[in-house]
Amino acid sequence: MPKLPSPRMKLDSRDRAASGVDHDEALRASLLAWYAANKRDLPWRGAENSYAIWVSEIMLQQTRVAAVIDRYMAFMERFPTVTALAAAPEEEVLALWSGLGYYRRARMLHKAARLVAADYGGILPAASAELRKLPGIGAYTAAAIASIAHGEPVAVVDGNVERVLCRLAGWEEGEPALRRRVEERAARFLDPKHAGDFNQAMMEMGATLCAPRNPQCAICPLLAGCRTRGEHKTAPRAKMQSRAVGCALALRKRRGRRAGNDAEVLLEQRPAAQTVMPGLWELPILRSADVAAEDLRLRVRHAIMQVNYDVRVRAVGEREVKALTVAGGRRRWVPLEEAASLPLTGLARKILTRLRLLPAAQRSQPR
Ligand code: SF4
Repeated sequence: MPKLPSPRMKLDSRDRAASGVDHDEALRASLLAWYAANKRDLPWRGAENSYAIWVSEIMLQQTRVAAVIDRYMAFMERFPTVTALAAAPEEEVLALWSGLGYYRRARMLHKAARLVAADYGGILPAASAELRKLPGIGAYTAAAIASIAHGEPVAVVDGNVERVLCRLAGWEEGEPALRRRVEERAARFLDPKHAGDFNQAMMEMGATLCAPRNPQCAICPLLAGCRTRGEHKTAPRAKMQSRAVGCALALRKRRGRRAGNDAEVLLEQRPAAQTVMPGLWELPILRSADVAAEDLRLRVRHAIMQVNYDVRVRAVGEREVKALTVAGGRRRWVPLEEAASLPLTGLARKILTRLRLLPAAQRSQPR
């Protein structure tokens, strides 16, 4: 990174301003100009449709933008309005969510859509305080929807914004009452006349320039107001665990079919009482992850939260299934052409896609 002016040199002028209005005004203007010139072209950008913003914000929670784009397009094509979403069966909503993970988000979104259809005439409330009464909409999502769709002057504080504000102020993790100070600072820093763009600019800046590692301080629009400029403590990376797991790929000819795609695959539905991905469909799990080379159909890596799975997929004959697998939930032989529209786990979809068992048109869009 090019050598930057010492933070202390700039602090004198900033301290004179004593966090005053003029200083923040200049930083806001710099941030908004940077955003206007550099914002990424994303399918939900420019939408003043609060439903579209809501869907995108829920999908983006704990999920990378690149992973969301295709899913968002497919979801909005199938459910273009709150009422369309409200009218759909949950299984179909989960199928469209497949691959995004954290399925509770989809369930809450669906539940909230039904409430909006029933109690609000299908129109999402405009005010952030009203939005927060809906299931799955917390302070962050309510502020994002209300500011972007309706210009309500309420600051968004997600992980990216928190990191930017802490680095600007020189605050470190673990300091007392940090969250409250961040929220107060975010509220003061917000540009009330351009709340939607300002909030998006802060989130975009945190996601692209002020990244957790190697921040791009030299081209940062907030450089003049930053106390740390890359000289901050970096949180240690969470240690990933590794785990081997075996999956059974059982295929059989579809009974009574003479033409077309006549194969079916054995899938298992995770029990409703499971805390992780309840109700989703997956390949049966093998009792042992040791799979002989001649039985191995595929080996894939799959990360779920802090675990990196080394997944070995074994071809299993119809008669061997019971002996080789652990029965966790309800099993069903599913025609391959129907499998793509079931709510599959991300791993099941990945395996069936890699093996080219999902119909081509349905590989990228879960319908
Ligand atoms: S100057 Fe660097 S550390 Fe400070 S806000 Fe900008 S990118 Fe982040």
